[in-house]
Amino acid sequence: MTETFPAEAPASQDLFDRALAVVPGGVNSPVRAFRAVGGTPRFMVRGEGAYLFDADGRRYLDLICSWGPLVLGHAHPAVIEAVTRAAAKGTSFGAPTPGEVELAEEIVSRTPVDQVRLVNSGTEATMSAIRLARGFTDRPKIIKFAGCYHGHSDGLLAAAGSGVATLAAARTEADLAGLPDSPGVTRSAAAETIVLPYNDLAAVEAVFAVEGDQIAAIITEAAAGNMGVVPPAPGFNAGLADLAHRHGALLILDEVMTGFRVARGGWAELSASRGEPIAADLITFGKVMGGGLPAAAFGGRHEVMGHLAPAGPVYQAGTLSGNPLASAAGLATLRECTSGTYATLDRTAAQLSGLASKALDAVGVAHRLQHAGNMFSIFFTSGEVTNYDQARAQHVAAFTAFFQAMLAHGVYLPPSAFEAWFVSTAIDDDAVEVFARALPAAAEAAAAATSVTPEGGGA
Ligand SMILES: *Cc1c(COP(=O)(O)O)cnc(C)c1O
Repeated sequence: MTETFPAEAPASQDLFDRALAVVPGGVNSPVRAFRAVGGTPRFMVRGEGAYLFDADGRRYLDLICSWGPLVLGHAHPAVIEAVTRAAAKGTSFGAPTPGEVELAEEIVSRTPVDQVRLVNSGTEATMSAIRLARGFTDRPKIIKFAGCYHGHSDGLLAAAGSGVATLAAARTEADLAGLPDSPGVTRSAAAETIVLPYNDLAAVEAVFAVEGDQIAAIITEAAAGNMGVVPPAPGFNAGLADLAHRHGALLILDEVMTGFRVARGGWAELSASRGEPIAADLITFGKVMGGGLPAAAFGGRHEVMGHLAPAGPVYQAGTLSGNPLASAAGLATLRECTSGTYATLDRTAAQLSGLASKALDAVGVAHRLQHAGNMFSIFFTSGEVTNYDQARAQHVAAFTAFFQAMLAHGVYLPPSAFEAWFVSTAIDDDAVEVFARALPAAAEAAAAATSVTPEGGGA
């Protein structure tokens, strides 16, 4: 495919204009709006395997995969069949169903948790896990890390990475003071959240030394993927568990993105297999476990989960939680995800990221390729990236130019420099070829952008 798509996308633009009239900003989640990269967000009408098709009839190789959930690609036959079969029996019962028991059993069998509560989004999972940690410890405060995103509940919207990073520029001092990232989040809500630099155990230790008896939990992404991919330094996650436990606090490992994506049992399994087991008290899941429908979960050992209503006093509920369609999609997806699946995803991620890195090297564009299992992203910087400040020091305009050229060549990357790229098992040799053919022009565009804008510039 040497032909490129024009920058204009008339059918998408028409839909966007209609959406702008009835939906704030024209989208139902901010990063979809292309604000960071410019241009018309593409309205998608169909997905098939590795590809998305937009309203203008253009085909894109999809490296977003619905922001992580679609490890098997679009419209996987097993998932579609499961959802169709479930839908024919009714969409929701407001009563317990066999499917949610099976999904919970599947999650418990793959991960270190004894019990899970099913919810509808990752936001709900982390919000509920924090309430449970506070109820269990009878303490008010939590520690989170700058650049980690845990959904959009009030207390967690402080230095929350991607979506917010994409919209706002540098705000480091405010972030680290635990000030809210968003109007509408009160100072008192944000004041219970202590924000520390990622990968800095000494900073966590210092906080515990001063107010350890006030801290209910540390919450961390199992491997950070919401400021671009920034893996935990060796010993960081295990060290967090150790510090928390020495002070009577819990560790909440957020595997909403990594869970069932980087390994059968998520980052917890991958880390244990590398000799670093993580003694997390609560783990949150989402994305892959819903197979593209709204489903998420949080879980832990019996002692902690037993505090949740109706077994215990900490309240948590949901009209559609454990929904039969979502449970069916999630279960079908997980059952397709064998060890072989992860070997395939790892190989594909290595292949695509290697090609991209080589293309950028060929034109002398400084960049840093970072992996967490099969999640990866490219930072347009020559420095190391181990935390949020370093992630934000990248050349954003170079990413934007790269993104637009890839889009014109039929490759749909996340429309932000602060996101992970996601692969699926549907990416075959032809799809790799589509990617490879798009790269030279995109690398050239990035090179041109770096030569006109100083490092750290861009919007
Ligand atoms: C996506 C994500 C969430 C939020 O999940 P939603 O389903 O979008 O509410 C929470 N934590 C992490 C690590 C995520 O990647």
